[in-house]
Amino acid sequence: MPAEKKRIEPGGTLGIIGGGQLGRMTALAAARLGIDCHFYCPEAESPAFAVTKSHTCAAYDDLEALARFAEAVEIVSFEFENVPAESVRAAAEKVPVRPGWGVLEIAQERVAEKSFFNRLGIGTAPWRPVGSGAELTDAVAAIGRPAILKTTRFGYDGKGQVRIDASTDLDAAWAAMKGQPAILEGFVDFAFEASILVARGVDGETACFDVVENRHRQGILDVTIAPAAISPILARRAQEIAVNAAEALDLVGLLAVELFVTTDGKLLVNEMAPRPHNSGHWTMNACYTDQFEQFVRAVCGLPLGRPDRFADAVMTNLIGDEVDAWPQLLAEPGVFVHLYGKAESRAGRKMGHVNRITPRRI
Ligand code: AMP
Repeated sequence: MPAEKKRIEPGGTLGIIGGGQLGRMTALAAARLGIDCHFYCPEAESPAFAVTKSHTCAAYDDLEALARFAEAVEIVSFEFENVPAESVRAAAEKVPVRPGWGVLEIAQERVAEKSFFNRLGIGTAPWRPVGSGAELTDAVAAIGRPAILKTTRFGYDGKGQVRIDASTDLDAAWAAMKGQPAILEGFVDFAFEASILVARGVDGETACFDVVENRHRQGILDVTIAPAAISPILARRAQEIAVNAAEALDLVGLLAVELFVTTDGKLLVNEMAPRPHNSGHWTMNACYTDQFEQFVRAVCGLPLGRPDRFADAVMTNLIGDEVDAWPQLLAEPGVFVHLYGKAESRAGRKMGHVNRITPRRI
């Protein structure tokens, strides 16, 4: 079997770089198919380690540890995409890595990501790369205010971002980037935020989950509503965007695409993540195949499952001490509770989520 078609059968082992809750839920889904996950993560208290029989606890740039890890597994994937290129290469010398470095390279850097979508004819907020205070002044003159200045790398949950309003001092905004390369984005007047997840298998088959609405609080996903209240035409356009992107990337795995639904009824891409995504947690209790099982099937070279939704769902993240409400949540009918086994509930830390399920209406 050629390496690009290699598959993991029941009894085999999937290697996953990262070890957070996305990995933990992936391992639970893999276990249902008789597949073990071996995680590679630098933190000893990783949520994924608790549900698997073996793991590697080492730094992401420890190339020897990465090579040993890759030798112990059949295929390598990620639940965390900010991994250095050399680390991916070290693993790829031993086994297939899905999705490959080319996908991560684009998803890790906002300028590459926006350029990629724009090349496909897919709209984003207007943007300019910003590498200095002078470039920020020029970019603000071109794009106008309000706008958002973001570091091009390592931003998540709204970190590394400054909003530029009418009165914002540009020197201070640039200083907040701490010398890191940045991107200025025009502020999108959105009606709501949405996302879509597509899985793509080794043979190029694709399967999309329904488009959902996402509501954030303090930059962190708070609630996902499935399905999103959008027209069938926009829903089809969202699927087209996700499938086009997955195909152009030649991605094997799962791709989450975050979208703005504008007040004038257009879709603009905000960003993508080539892995399971927080906005797909609702699928665990409302779809025939959930995002984690679909991810395992795709990267293991197995047939994809049906992504159809059989119920409506509202997913709510349990952030920080919100997790203390678990006794009441467990007692609530129609609620599915998912806890990540994290010992300490710090502010802003995702501790678990709940899915509230109701009969499917449309
Ligand atoms: P990001 O880290 O790019 O996902 O941004 C975090 C959140 O900031 C998004 O989910 C939006 O709520 C908001 N945001 C980011 N970029 C823009 C933009 N260009 N226009 C309006 N809101 C934005």
